[in-house]
Parts: sequence; structure tokens; C-alpha cells
Amino acid sequence: MPEGPEIRRAADLLVRAVVNKPLTDVWFAFPSLKPYQSALRGTKVTAIETRGKALLTHFSNGLTLYSHNQLYGVWRVVNAGEAPKETQRSLRVKLETPDAAILLYSASEIGIYDTAEIENHPFLQRIGPDVLDETLTVAQVRERLLSPKFRNRQLGGMLLDQAFLAGLGNYLRAEILWLAKLLPGHKSRELNDAELNALADACLSVARLSYATRGTMDENVHHGALFRFNVFGRTGKPCARCDDPIVKGSVSSRPFFWCPVCQV
Ligand SMILES: [Zn+2]
Repeated sequence: MPEGPEIRRAADLLVRAVVNKPLTDVWFAFPSLKPYQSALRGTKVTAIETRGKALLTHFSNGLTLYSHNQLYGVWRVVNAGEAPKETQRSLRVKLETPDAAILLYSASEIGIYDTAEIENHPFLQRIGPDVLDETLTVAQVRERLLSPKFRNRQLGGMLLDQAFLAGLGNYLRAEILWLAKLLPGHKSRELNDAELNALADACLSVARLSYATRGTMDENVHHGALFRFNVFGRTGKPCARCDDPIVKGSVSSRPFFWCPVCQV
């Protein structure tokens, strides 16, 4: 399953393809959305936002396309006028500009809303702030850790719960807890000040570093740190901090990797 950084990077490709260009063609498969086709032709996509696994495509006429890919949905970018390649998937959305088109296949949760009302969408109401939201601060994450809803939750399960921070998933969970030097069985209310700060900081810094640099190897482009796995998938390999072997187990029914020496 893709996590926040991968979803955001996929969305960046859509942004580059269509944002701020006039839409020459708009097509929806669902009959309930057909009436919006003509209303959206000639408008522009002004921004494409990710909220966990949901994508918000904002149009210049005050409407927003909500889509959630679930397990099967996938976006593709093609050149304008290019017929989509033969595929078993069913096309659900097409947004075309003079240069490029973006195509959404197989997703079933698609709707058009007034941009001003989009925050009332039930899914957006359920999830927490997106971990890659640039305005989200360490202090806000710390506050969330200590809030009544989350202070008594075990960290291992909570970090996978999109209601805590949208966009976190299994590899980020393992890397965040390693960086914060914490085991997954703790609850926020048991942590001291330094541990809380380290955890809140790691939630943002690990996700942001992954988004900025994961999969890139060019040190000339990225002068700062590059993202690499310190524990995830590294069973038996030495911990980068203490050299002891990383171990693998299961936490909240998902694989978990940690250093038994420096995570306490
Ligand atoms: Zn270690």
C-alpha cells in the first residue's frame, strides 16, 4: 500500500501535467457526474491536494473533485489526444488540457463538491491532518499525541490509524519509532517531555524526508540527508546507531521492525 509520501509524489505528476491549463475536455463515467462535464470545460485545475489516500482536485470555478483510490484506483498521465493504452481497468475520469490529460481508472469513490464545503466530506471528517501538510507543526502533533482521543492509545496501532495523522503507514511507523527510540507498546501519556518531542518531531521529519528524497540517489541534487530505511525490511542487519541486529515481529497485525537495544 502506498503511504503519504508516495501518494504525494504521484499527485505531483498530475499537478505538473494539468494544473493552471484550460481544460479542453472533461469526462466522467458515473451518470451522476455527467452534468458537471460541461460546467468544468474551460475551467482550470488550480491545485491537487492529497489527504491520506484521498485526492482533492480543485477547479477554478469553485468545484472540487473528490476521489479515493481504495485498492484498485490508479491515475495515469497521457499526452493530449493520446488514446489510453489497452487496459482491463475501467476509465472513470478524464481531465484533458491542450498538453496532457490525466485519467483515473477503477476508483469507485468519486464525487464533485463545492470547494467551500469539501471539509464536510465524511472521509475528510474522519481522518487527521495530512502528515505532509506543510503548515502542520511539531507542536500541533505533540498536542494531538496528548489529546483525549489519542493519549491512551498504543503507539504501534495509533501510528497506522489515519485518524491520528493521515498518510502514515507501515514503513513510516517503523522508521518514526526507530528515530524516536521508542517501542510500539507505549502510550503517549506515559512518555516524558523529551520522548514526546522526539516522537512528534519524527512523525513529520521522517515523512517529509521520504517525500523529498526517497528513491533519489543524487547527492548533488540533495545536499541534506537522503531517506533510507534504518529498520524497515532490515531484519538481521546492524542498527545504524548501535550495530545490534534489527529484529522483525508483528504489531497491530502488520510486520514491524525495530532495534531491541536502542528502542526502549
Ligand atoms: Zn540500535
